[in-house]
Formats: sequence, structure tokens, C-alpha cells
Amino acid sequence: MFRAISRRLALLNALVVIGVIAAVGLASYLYLARKIETQTDAELRNRSASAVQLWTDVFLEADARTSAGGSAPSYDNSDDDNHDDDDDANKEQAKELIRSGDTIAYGIDLHGDVVSTLRPVRIEHLPKEDSIERALGGAIVVETIEVHHDRIRLRTEPVLADGRIIGAIQVGMGLGPNEQVLDFVQWSTIGGLVLGMLLAVPTGWWLANRSMKPIREAFDRQRAFVADASHELRTPLTLIRAEAEYQDRSPDLSQAELHESRATIIREVDSMAGLVSSLLQLARMDESAARLVGQHIDLEAVAAEAVERFQSLAAERGIALGFDTSSPATALGDRAATDQVVSILLDNAFAYTPAGGKITLRSGMQAGKATLAVTDTGIGISPSDQQRIFDRFYRGDPARSRSSGGAGLGLSIATELMAAQHGRITVESEPGAGSTFTLHFDAA
Ligand code: ADP
Repeated sequence: MFRAISRRLALLNALVVIGVIAAVGLASYLYLARKIETQTDAELRNRSASAVQLWTDVFLEADARTSAGGSAPSYDNSDDDNHDDDDDANKEQAKELIRSGDTIAYGIDLHGDVVSTLRPVRIEHLPKEDSIERALGGAIVVETIEVHHDRIRLRTEPVLADGRIIGAIQVGMGLGPNEQVLDFVQWSTIGGLVLGMLLAVPTGWWLANRSMKPIREAFDRQRAFVADASHELRTPLTLIRAEAEYQDRSPDLSQAELHESRATIIREVDSMAGLVSSLLQLARMDESAARLVGQHIDLEAVAAEAVERFQSLAAERGIALGFDTSSPATALGDRAATDQVVSILLDNAFAYTPAGGKITLRSGMQAGKATLAVTDTGIGISPSDQQRIFDRFYRGDPARSRSSGGAGLGLSIATELMAAQHGRITVESEPGAGSTFTLHFDAA
């Protein structure tokens, strides 16, 4: 499942990267193309105006000749010349002229004949006759044409004298130099896309795997938690069912036997109820990552009340429960949560301390922290178990846990309740001699 998500994230990442590169490339291309076009058109307007000025006399002469019925000297390049060498040389010159971006200009009289040109180089398709016809009709024609695979921007407009059209002018310039910039943008965008595709997929895959790791670990923890919880719930259910079947199978049970069987059922139901409420509490704490700070808690009072609460149990078990104050301590935290943590520690201390033992509570200050310690003279905890007893469902001694303790959730709940109060819980223990669990709080 996580591999599929990683793959999808990697692809999504690649798509986003490629999309961004393509969008930026296209936007730059269109912007540049538009800018080049407007700049070229402005330049052509200027060149056209200069050419008209330069050729004013030529146009006036041509006009006078036309009025007198004469014909113009022809610069028409569509005709005659049979010399192949000349042709080739001219073609090269034409290409050069177009690629240089220099001005190409033709002055045209009212007959549509060329009366003046800037350079003696013939360029195929130029001057462009249909545009000249339209210019002689009064229109300004701006267009882009293609010659020898090169693009030329062309402007054709009428030439006026005293408000009357006396000819036309056609100026052009090769777009080559400007289009090199466009080509560069185009190819760098394509290069960026290829590179983006090559890099974005593996980096996306790597990133997705990396960011997925904590999620995967949390998911694995959750799965193990659910499996453990189901397992823990199955045990009392199996026992309850066994008792019910036993009663069903044995109609001649005595009152005493029936009573014992029902007592077992009630005990197992109670244990299940306890387990379910522990699970619910852990689930709620996981969900909200609760923060329980804000109350001033008198740890001496917490300890004194706990001693009172557990006094009858202590008497029943033959364990001495005492309260020993080294110094008063006020913690910053939550009173109800602290009471619950102390109850968990005392439950454990009673569960793992044999009759004749001793359990002591002590509040005080340690390294700037307000502390509350629960010490017992019980069976103690081995060093390897000390690392693990705070894990969910961990029980140090499975053989005796079902009779003496819960499902191994008490200390996990205590740890989370302490974390929710910015506090922590530590253990010191010697197998056979006893254990001390200490709660450390921020001091008020
Ligand atoms: P449980 O429900 O089994 O008590 P806990 O999380 O409270 O679960 O405790 C986990 C394990 O830590 C216990 O199974 C036990 O082995 C060990 N433990 C906890 N408190 C004590 C103690 N005071 N003395 C000895 N062992 C303890």
C-alpha cells in the first residue's frame, strides 16, 4: 500500500515539476515572441519613415513622370537573368541580408514598378506585389513572410504628397537574430522538460519514501496495537464462553459451584471492561495529543490522599503503606491525571509486592523538578525489562500477569498522562529488592 502511495506521489511530483517548467517555458516564449513582434514593428515604422525621407525626390520625380505618361526604370527582379553563377551569388547575398536583420526597402511608383531600392540584391518574392497593391489603395500592411526558410517581417504603406498617394514603400527585416532568442527559450524549455522528467521521478520517489517512513512506522505500531488489543480481548471472552458452556453442560451444579462459575464470569467481564476503558483512553490521547497543564498541584496532598485511598487494600494484603515527606513540592499539571498515574503505580506496587512488604510515597524537589516517588519492596524488575515496561501491552512476567496485573497498558497510560503534563516518569529497580517509580513535573 505504501509503495503504491509513494509511486503515486513520485508521479504527481514529476507532473507538477514538468507542468511548472512547461508553463514557465510557454509563458516566456509567448511573452518574448510578442515583445519581439512589437519591437520589430516599431523598428520597421522608423525605417519606413527614414526611407520615405531619403527617397522623397525619387518619389516626386516618379510621380511627375507618371503624370507625364512616362514609364519608370524597372528594378523588377522576377525576370530575365540567365547566368546561373550570378544567381547563386545573389541567392547567398540575399540569405545573408535576411539573416543579418538589416533593412530591405523598395520604393514603388503608382504603376507598381520599383523606382528605388536600398541594396542591389534580388530577394525571392520581394517586393510583395499584393501588399503593394493594397498600399497603393491606401492600406498599411504588416505581415510576416518566409523566404529560403527564413522569416521576414514586412511593412508596406502608401507614400503621400499633399494628401495624395504618389507611391508605396515596402520595408522589411529578417527576424533571424531575434528569433535566435526564441529558439534558445524553446530549446531550454524542452531540455528542462527532459531533465525534469529524468530527475523529478527518482527525487519524488526518494522524497515520498522518506516522508512516508514515519507514517509507515505509526501505521505498523497501530496495527500491532490492534492485534494486541484483539488478543487481550479474546482471552476473557474465551473464559466467559467456557464458563457458560460449563454451566450449560452441567445441570446438576451445586449452588456453590454455580456461584464460583458466575464469579469467574464477573471477574472476566470486569477485566474486559477495564481493558476497554484503557484502550479508549489511549485512543483518545493518541487522537488529541492532549496537553494537561495549568493547575498547581500540591504533590504532598496527592500522596496523602492516595495513601488514604489504598489503606484498606494495604491492610487486606498485609503490606505497610506509608507516606514520607522529604520536602513540600508544587507541580504544574493536572490533578485528575496525576491521581490516575499515582493509582496506576500503586496498583502495580501492590500487584508485585508480597505480604509483609512496604510501599512508600515521597514528594520533593529534584534538579528543579517537583517529584513524587512510589517505592516498593517487591519483586523488582530486571534491567532488560526496565527498558520495555513502558511499551504498550508489555508484561514483565506473563506467567503471573493475568492474576496479578492488567494487560500491560497501565504504565503506557501513565507515560502518556505524564507527557501530556510536560512531565516524565522514570524507574529504578533491583530484582528481588524492589522498585521506585518517580514522576517528574515542572515546578510551579
Ligand atoms: P500491567 O497491567 O501488567 O501492570 P503495566 O504497564 O502497568 O502493566 O506494567 C508493565 C509491567 O511492568 C508489568 O507486567 C510488570 O512486569 C512490570 N512492573 C510494573 N510495576 C512494577 C513493580 N512495582 N514491581 C515489579 N514489576 C513491575
